[in-house]
Parts: sequence; C-alpha cells; structure tokens
Amino acid sequence: MDAILKPVATRDDTAAATRPRPSREEVEAAVRTLLAWTGDDPEREGLLDTPKRVAKAYEEIFSGYFQDPAEHLKRTFEDVGGYDDIVLVRGIPFFSHCEHHMLPFVGEAQVAYYPSEGVVGLSKIARVIDIFAKRLQTQENLTAQVVDAIDTHLAPRGIAVMIEAEHQCMTMRGVRKAGARTITSAVRGQLRNPATRAEAMALLLGGKR
Ligand code: ZN
Repeated sequence: MDAILKPVATRDDTAAATRPRPSREEVEAAVRTLLAWTGDDPEREGLLDTPKRVAKAYEEIFSGYFQDPAEHLKRTFEDVGGYDDIVLVRGIPFFSHCEHHMLPFVGEAQVAYYPSEGVVGLSKIARVIDIFAKRLQTQENLTAQVVDAIDTHLAPRGIAVMIEAEHQCMTMRGVRKAGARTITSAVRGQLRNPATRAEAMALLLGGKR
C-alpha cells in the first residue's frame, strides 16, 4: 500500500498537509456512486475500470496541490547582459477546473515583469501557471495566485498577469454561451502606477487577433 501523498501547504491553505486525505479505495467507491447517480450501471463491463481511471486522471489534473511554486522560481539568471526592461511571456496555454462545477476551463496566460535581481527561465513561468491551474480554481484566484507567487519568490520590480479562458460550465451547461471568454488581470509592484500599468496591459493584449 503506498503512503498517501500530502498536499503542499500554501499561504491560502496552511492546513493542507495535515488534512486527512481519503484512500484510493474510498475515491474509487465515490466514483462508483457518481456513476450510479448518472443513471448508469457501475457494474457493466465498460464502466468496471472507470473508477480506477478517474482516480488516476484526477491525480494528474490536480497534481498542483503537491507542488511548490517556490521551488521553480528559486534559480534566476543574473547574467543577462544588463537587460532590465520588461520580460514578456505570451500565449502560455493551460487547463484548469472550476471549483464550482469541477468542469474544465481552458485558456492562455500572458505574463510581463520588470526584473530586479535577475530573470527566471521562461519555462519556470509556465510551470508556476500549471501548478496553480492544476488545482480547483476560479479564474480570478488563479490570476491572483500566479501574480503573488512570482511577486513573492522572484521579487521583480513589477509584475502583470493576464488570463483569458473559456469555461465549460458556461458553454456546455447553464447559460450555454459557446465562445464567451473571460479576461482577468492582476498587477503588482511598479507596474501598478497608471502609466506603466497601461504600457504593461498594452503589451499583454498586444497582437491579439
Ligand atoms: Zn463552473
């Protein structure tokens, strides 16, 4: 029997690592209950292995609870030829799940920051977005958590994050508005003052088709 992996404590959820986590058997039983609730027969052949597969899929799509964004922002590159202007990382794709319906929301993130001590590898920014996206989220909290993690651990002079996403809980159920996209943004540090904020937002939105 594997030891049950514990989530990483975060500023918003300091008790994460001490909260009891169900066993895999309990999770699979819960999925069988959901299958029966849909009206289907959990014992029919096509569904027999579904609880196992769902548990495995959840491990992957919610793996962000077990990763610490600080780990990915520790190593910076200071030898950047004196480059100290805005670094812009555009079009970072992500998949997340809304905390209200556990349905996917899918989109792209754009990140702009003014480095102070150094810059971070571009893939690390994408990794931080993934860590928070692979948790149950609202788009607003995802945006705030990404901006705060980079602000705290990389300590740039300023940072702006913009996220644009389509929510399946709006497109496949409820109001059923296919193609409706939500844009959220958050800004910290020097990019907060009106002139630099406008410049950062123009960069983040720039070239949008
Ligand atoms: Zn939802």
